Amino acid sequence: MIPYGKHFIEQDDIDAVVDVLKNGWLTQGPKIDEFEAKLAEMVGAKYAVAVSNATAGLHLACMATGLSKGDKALVSPNTFVSTPNAVLYCGARPVFVDMDPTTLNMCPEELGKELLRTSGVKVVLPVHFGGLPCDMESIASMVNPAGVKVIEDAAHALGASYQCGAKVGSCKYSDFTVFSLHPVKGVTTGEGGVITTNDYMSYKKLLQLRSHGICKGNFVHPGISVPDSEPLFCPENAFDSEGNLNPWYYEMQQLGFNYRMTDFQAALGVSQLKKLNRFVMRRQELALRYDEALRDIPFIEPAQPQYRTDSSIHIYIARISFDKLAIGRGEFMRRLKDMGIGSQVHYIPVHWQPYYSTLGYRQSACPNTNSYYEQTLTLPLYYGLTDEEFNSVIASLRNLMAIA
Ligand SMILES: *Cc1c(COP(=O)(O)O)cnc(C)c1O
Repeated sequence: MIPYGKHFIEQDDIDAVVDVLKNGWLTQGPKIDEFEAKLAEMVGAKYAVAVSNATAGLHLACMATGLSKGDKALVSPNTFVSTPNAVLYCGARPVFVDMDPTTLNMCPEELGKELLRTSGVKVVLPVHFGGLPCDMESIASMVNPAGVKVIEDAAHALGASYQCGAKVGSCKYSDFTVFSLHPVKGVTTGEGGVITTNDYMSYKKLLQLRSHGICKGNFVHPGISVPDSEPLFCPENAFDSEGNLNPWYYEMQQLGFNYRMTDFQAALGVSQLKKLNRFVMRRQELALRYDEALRDIPFIEPAQPQYRTDSSIHIYIARISFDKLAIGRGEFMRRLKDMGIGSQVHYIPVHWQPYYSTLGYRQSACPNTNSYYEQTLTLPLYYGLTDEEFNSVIASLRNLMAIA
């Protein structure tokens, strides 16, 4: 079976994890520091904070902006449920902004309209869908004057670059960027996520929030603290009569979570990051080959073909005119599966989800996203996809289009 996406683990990845299991820390330890430093350097950010998954990362980034009850956050509806859910976790309300039908990302013009229409907007969360960076320059220039914070959901976009050449993750146009390290994403730590920022105070806040909101002296490990000593709130409890810091002392300064990543996951992350460029290059090569191969197959065309070298090509999205075929998308996917080929749909518009209906969201909102959804299908693309497997996908598509 050829899946739509897949991780790629080699012997040196396995060795890196085994080494930590034999000799290192199990929960947060020195490999976390190494992973964070390496990732921050690669994307050009000052700080990186590793967390248990990107959903947790989005939640903490939202908290770090101060997003709370009564506030609104502008979100793309063409995303995984995590993005708007992070807003709900803070007691705030997501407002969906429709996509641009060409980029499939948040439409800057729609964003401008929504900013005029909606009061109480505190945060905007653009999603770099499929690994294609949003037009962050436009987005930032629109929201910055209104004091709105920007959190990039870059779960798809590790290894992608903006048109200006800066890396996604550099936070050149944003306050925070969040990556996912789930196995189907660019590189993996099993479960995992990472937040980048250039703001020191936000960085310190994130470090505390991922570990119960606890600050412990100036310990760096096992990570329930910040790199340099924090001002302690209760010095009379913290110090003995001679003024020595009580060694057991810690204090909880805000309501945080246990969102830590383990050290053996971080070791896998360090090892995987070394391969990121190689992974992205193969993904881009495969995307270009798909673009070429789909040209002479009827009823199917590539999505986002204009931007192959900026994108990290997290997934390969095709637009298929199912309305012109004799079979629907479900049957199309089943027949592909019978030929050994997996496919997927990214995404069911979040405002269609039953839970969001109960919150009063209507399915008819965001018409561009809705009509995109009717046509979309994600085809197999991942680093380990061989040329032979790629050719078999193309042959199967030809075959299906001929009989459909
Ligand atoms: C995968 C994904 C997430 C969540 O990532 P996890 O690490 O699984 O929590 C969030 N947003 C988008 C766009 C994603 O694709």
